Amino acid sequence: MPTTIYADHAATTPLSTAAYNAMLPYLTHHYGNASQHYALSRPPRRAIDEARQTIAQCIGARPEEILFTSGGTESDNTVIHSAVQRQADIITTTIEHHAILYPCRAAEKYCHVTYLPVTNYGVVDMSVLRTMSIRRGSLVSVMLANNELGTIQPLADIADIAHENHALCHTDAVQAVGHIPIDVDALHVDYLSASAHKFNGPKGIGFLYHRTGAPLTPLLLGGAQEGGLRAGTENVAAIVGMAAALKENVDNLDKNIRHLQQLEQIVLTTLNDLHVPYTLHTTANHLPGLISLAIHGTHAEQLMHRLDLCGITLATGAACNSTTTTISHVLTAINLPMDLAVATIRVSLGSDNTPSHAARLAHHIATIAHSTTP
Ligand code: PLP
Repeated sequence: MPTTIYADHAATTPLSTAAYNAMLPYLTHHYGNASQHYALSRPPRRAIDEARQTIAQCIGARPEEILFTSGGTESDNTVIHSAVQRQADIITTTIEHHAILYPCRAAEKYCHVTYLPVTNYGVVDMSVLRTMSIRRGSLVSVMLANNELGTIQPLADIADIAHENHALCHTDAVQAVGHIPIDVDALHVDYLSASAHKFNGPKGIGFLYHRTGAPLTPLLLGGAQEGGLRAGTENVAAIVGMAAALKENVDNLDKNIRHLQQLEQIVLTTLNDLHVPYTLHTTANHLPGLISLAIHGTHAEQLMHRLDLCGITLATGAACNSTTTTISHVLTAINLPMDLAVATIRVSLGSDNTPSHAARLAHHIATIAHSTTP
């Protein structure tokens, strides 16, 4: 059965029409290699320059501070790789995406890595960061918004602590860019990772913001593209699509935020009206449209499969096989009791969802919850 209600926008988003239309010429007649010096290469080269400007404007950066990458994973890996090359200490959190945690684990062979604890709502424990000793030149890497909980971190305060100690600050803003206002100066960060497929752009493209003067060692070596900071023939169509998608999202940000907050309320009010008991894991300061909640007495994975059969797509916080249940590292980090962790679903709504989707989604959850709980 085809998906009729898509509520997993934190996993990926549909490509916007603006992005699709912007990409088409670069998938067809403007196919030239942007790094060559003949006429065929001029339109793609110009398109890349314009996309860089558009993206820089959307986040308050300068065009030369934007590095195109293959997505969030590469942007995150580049920053950690760069810190390892400088033999910097790394300070991160227990709730980062694996695109940060796995390279950090690999970095432990060469550098000192600290994982900051979080509160029960997934906010960095600032008292630990404030009182720890931070070596000059360290990298503090904290995600702006968590992909499972939606919690938004106090990034400017975190960056200030890093800078007071002459350290650098990176944020994985993959879930936040295109969804909340982003200004790299207001966030005080030195590096910021983003991924187009989270904001209605194409998959396999992203960017890394790096503040002028902040050290950066390339992860990929070979060609001289991206000022020698990222080798590989530019994916022109994807770059252009990413810029078009981000601009559209940023131009409509206030409207989208209001819409998503309304949908979120509809889901929760409908669950209340239908007497579905749940626990919300999200703080007031969270990504609009992303709600993480445990539906009491249910098994989230079974709930997800039954919703899937009804054409409703959402995510869970635990993965099961026939003998074990693995709780995500994020739900483990917030000390969620097992009965709530296995019952946790993530509803992540998008601007393409309607109030009717939100109400129907909650009605289906209620029907399944009532049929599985005594
Ligand atoms: N960081 C966060 C917070 C994410 O949610 C994701 C993707 O889910 C990534 C990084 C990885 O991004 P990409 O899929 O573009 O590699």
